[in-house]
Amino acid sequence: MNQDSIRQYLQFYRDLGVKEIYKRSSPSKISSAAAPAPGRELIEPAPAAEIVLPSLAPSDDTLLKIQQDIGDCKRCRLCEQRAKIVFGSGNQHARLVFVGEGPGADEDAQGLPFVGRAGQLLTQMIENTASKEGIPIKRPDVYICNVVKCRPPENRTPLPDEMEICGEFLFRQLMTIRPRAICALGSTAAKALLATKDGVTRLRGHWHKWRDIPLMVTYHPSYLLRPYNQNAKREAWEDLKTVLHYVYD
Ligand code: URA
Repeated sequence: MNQDSIRQYLQFYRDLGVKEIYKRSSPSKISSAAAPAPGRELIEPAPAAEIVLPSLAPSDDTLLKIQQDIGDCKRCRLCEQRAKIVFGSGNQHARLVFVGEGPGADEDAQGLPFVGRAGQLLTQMIENTASKEGIPIKRPDVYICNVVKCRPPENRTPLPDEMEICGEFLFRQLMTIRPRAICALGSTAAKALLATKDGVTRLRGHWHKWRDIPLMVTYHPSYLLRPYNQNAKREAWEDLKTVLHYVYD
């Protein structure tokens, strides 16, 4: 990571109210027993190896507390047109968390993430890949949430301030669940978790880290629903296979 990226990374956390950023005594390493296959090595974002961000959350945090803290949130303009806050769903002890961008119309109506067309594809991707690979998991075994918890009008991309405000809750969810791996779906989730401007094509297919948790970026299921994205579909399946084996083998 270059100096600009480091500055951006640090500023992102300062904007979230992190006062203290200090050096880690030794860089964290993924254990060799859990090491990904050659060519899919874990790439540590350079500053993350040097810097530990203090917890933004109390150590006895729970998903329930986080949801209570969100309350009837009015912290940003997305509250104005939402029907329901979409907090997240799945196993609170999940080994794997998927992070999407933000609720669409179906999710806004039901208060649950990924229940529309993109959600059906995500369910198929998880369950079909797991079944083909002999991994006995279903969608309820993982946890699914979004960067922003309220639907952006007309499904527009969330704005930076909306992502920062809601990011606090996403980070608390991730720190509370502490999964073995995170899968970021699409560029908005990648941006929020890796503080990068790189797109999915560049980021996908190899490991990154969110704090000390291995993170894979792959295509958002909405992108894969477009008929001309066959190649991306194949790549997303590969990414998911890598993630599932890493987490469940
Ligand atoms: N797209 C997302 O990013 N999240 C959802 O919950 C649904 C669609």
